Amino acid sequence: MPSPMHGEIAVIGASVAGVAAADELRRLGHTGDILLVGDEPHLPYDRPPLSKGLLTGTIEPGSVYLREREHYDRQGITLRLGTPAVRLDGRRVKLADGRILSPDAVIIATGARARPFPGGAARDTVVTLRGLDDARRLQRRLTPGTAVVVVGAGFIGGEVAASLRELGLKVTLVEAAPLPLAQLAGEDAAAAILRAHVEAGIRVLCGTPVEGIEWAGDRERIILADGRQVDGDLVVVGLGAIPNTEWLADSGLDIGNGVRCDATGATGLPGVYAIGDVASWHDPKLGRHIRHEHWTSAREQARIAAAHVLGLEPAPSPTGGVPYFWSDQHGRRIQSLGHPELADESHVVHGSLDGDSFVVLYGRSGTVIGAVGYNAAAQLMRHRAAIATSAPLPTRA
Ligand SMILES: Cc1cc2nc3c(=O)[nH]c(=O)nc-3n(C[C@H](O)[C@H](O)[C@H](O)COP(=O)(O)OP(=O)(O)OC[C@H]3O[C@@H](n4cnc5c(N)ncnc54)[C@H](O)[C@@H]3O)c2cc1C
Repeated sequence: MPSPMHGEIAVIGASVAGVAAADELRRLGHTGDILLVGDEPHLPYDRPPLSKGLLTGTIEPGSVYLREREHYDRQGITLRLGTPAVRLDGRRVKLADGRILSPDAVIIATGARARPFPGGAARDTVVTLRGLDDARRLQRRLTPGTAVVVVGAGFIGGEVAASLRELGLKVTLVEAAPLPLAQLAGEDAAAAILRAHVEAGIRVLCGTPVEGIEWAGDRERIILADGRQVDGDLVVVGLGAIPNTEWLADSGLDIGNGVRCDATGATGLPGVYAIGDVASWHDPKLGRHIRHEHWTSAREQARIAAAHVLGLEPAPSPTGGVPYFWSDQHGRRIQSLGHPELADESHVVHGSLDGDSFVVLYGRSGTVIGAVGYNAAAQLMRHRAAIATSAPLPTRA
């Protein structure tokens, strides 16, 4: 095998993780071929704007692309777009067009896809939002007066509901849990998010699972487990995501909820790494594997894995390795650090839960494990070091 600095590297999946990995390989001095393979026909683009500015029309559609085409030419990154990888055998990658790649290293970055409503509802008035084509399909369905039911109030469902309401549409948001986003952002922040939805004029039905989606002759009908029904012209299903691992079925990789890796992205196969939403990295601090589905984690894993592919030690993480995500809803920014979902204790350390800006610090067994900010970016980030070092949980900042 040539030196890792000169070999051929195939990155499979051309989105934020894949592009970040390809860029990082070059930045670290790799001189060999880099192939970036993606199944979508589009130039690699960013997903967060799809449920925010792209939906509300407040950003230029062209601004979603991660890089201009010339960037890839300049960096010597060969794009193979519109071509899914269908099989991995050792480090050999088979593409749908029959071509076989035999690179010296493979970085798997095939992400995740939207989870459909269980049992399906194969009509074009029931949609999910994961990619650019989904976003365009959704936009085409929106006309003044459209009544939309959003199923699932996680961060994508919540953002879609907020964006559609901003467009003046009639929106109902249905969530099985008692509060929106509570699992990710904690109950305190969830109550504030619920308030923001209601104040914006969204009808929110929490605490009742959806049992079925039916076509009622001229509209979609959502049947709730408690017998209630909600009708709408369009249903947006936001029930989370499923990692894209099917093409790896015969590869011998350890696949559970994503491709299981160590804390460098290395899988059990020599020279094969996995990053981003498709990957379940071992977290030494928590002592278990975790699959993050967040933009910053995808980029951070790309940075770490790229260094290891080249046999280098990655520079210390600027984030201290603390997971982070954000969500924009109703003009408010919700940000989360660490693992609020694992907490057994919480304290408000800035602002007030009834107000429009606060930070909640989360602890487990007396140490700081996470924090959530609501319109309080600067105040939140002050707690990152405490989370990174598992500092004792203070009762008041
Ligand atoms: C609407 C939306 C809004 C979001 N907003 C936020 C936010 O505000 N904050 C935040 O932290 N995160 C947000 N996220 C999550 C964030 O976008 C993801 O964590 C991130 O996109 C993960 O990047 P990835 O490259 O690992 O995977 P993906 O972005 O899923 O990309 C994987 C790529 O691989 C392709 N692929 C799949 N299978 C194959 C195959 N066999 N061969 C070749 N290519 C394949 C896929 O089609 C896709 O293009 C949002 C996600 C969505 C969908």
